[in-house]
Amino acid sequence: MFTEASKVKQSSTAGVYIHIPFCKSRCSYCDFATDVFRDQNSVQRYVDAVCREILSEPPALAGGQSEHDYSASPNWPAANAVAGHIDTIYFGGGTPSLLSPKQVALVIDAVRKRFNISRDVEITMEMNPATVSAESLAGYRKLGVNRASFGVQTFNDRDLKLLARGHDANDARQTFKLLSEAGFANISFDLIAGLPGQTLEDWERNLNEALAMEPEHLSLYLLEVHQGTPLAEQLRSGRRPMPDEDAAAEMYELLLDRTASAGLLQYEISNFAKPGFESRHNTKYWRLVPVYGFGVSAHSFDHVRRYWNERDTAAYVKRIEETSSAMAGCEAIDAASEFVFLGLRLNQGIDLNEYEQRFERDLSKTHAAEITRLSENGLVELAGGTLKLTRKGMLFSNEVFAEFV
Ligand code: SF4
Repeated sequence: MFTEASKVKQSSTAGVYIHIPFCKSRCSYCDFATDVFRDQNSVQRYVDAVCREILSEPPALAGGQSEHDYSASPNWPAANAVAGHIDTIYFGGGTPSLLSPKQVALVIDAVRKRFNISRDVEITMEMNPATVSAESLAGYRKLGVNRASFGVQTFNDRDLKLLARGHDANDARQTFKLLSEAGFANISFDLIAGLPGQTLEDWERNLNEALAMEPEHLSLYLLEVHQGTPLAEQLRSGRRPMPDEDAAAEMYELLLDRTASAGLLQYEISNFAKPGFESRHNTKYWRLVPVYGFGVSAHSFDHVRRYWNERDTAAYVKRIEETSSAMAGCEAIDAASEFVFLGLRLNQGIDLNEYEQRFERDLSKTHAAEITRLSENGLVELAGGTLKLTRKGMLFSNEVFAEFV
């Protein structure tokens, strides 16, 4: 697999992902690597660890903690040398907007020392309602943060309580106002659908309010119930109704119709944007472009392998302080398969010529039977050298992807 993956062309600029694990409280459905915000000292210690990780030898070269020979990886820039070129920085979490502008500045400075940053870099910060002020937003803007990924989730207070989001709809409205006043001209809303007890009418109201605010970008998440979360327990014990999958499909259809009439064009199964406001950073994941991740549980991808860090924040900080590396594992990727099922998420689909150039084989021949079957079922269409999902295929995308794994 290494041999095959190493043929992938390095055609696009890489990105950097920074994971900030702290949240004000824990949502009932969350199984991300998050910690409840305790005190500024722990946050500062974490920020220092992230900066240290960014400025250290890459795990590939640091300690031989795995059976793999990381030194073969051509993509990690050497420590203390500005070698890698990046054009996106993404602060995800958790709730990155719990960091002060000063802490964000420390991280951006470390990234700047380590990477060559494009002048038109896209810097995204995930922000939750009621976690920012006019001052903090002005501070982030000064540092070059030019995109806000805003965790609205829903404008329905009953559902916000169910999700234990720790904010209400008015907080979301107020925060959006602050974002606009601070000069954010690229705001993405995260919305969540398929909640227990949520009706199509609830979703429609929610959607109407979100679209009336005219965000530049919108991401939809269908609720996933993870074992071990409070929500899973509430569903198991019958305290909440089970989410209705058919209703979720209708919500998705409604979303497709409404976003189109609001001028938000779908460019990925769950993502919609005004033209020119597609997430440059997230598109890297779907196009198999390298992303270097720093922080607890952060994942990196370098064309050939995927690496990931320790999932526990205290363990991450300890390991970085002791060894400058917190890598917990790595795997070789099957780039040809990933190119297909990640690329199919994009509305533009995959270019079969590009596939052939990258992997030296013709997908329409190697997977002729699968493509024919999926086309006959109305799930994909193959035209003009491009393979893409149909509208029906977007609803049954996992079925399609399974054919190419
Ligand atoms: S804000 Fe996001 S990361 Fe934090 S607890 Fe809630 S779902 Fe998890």
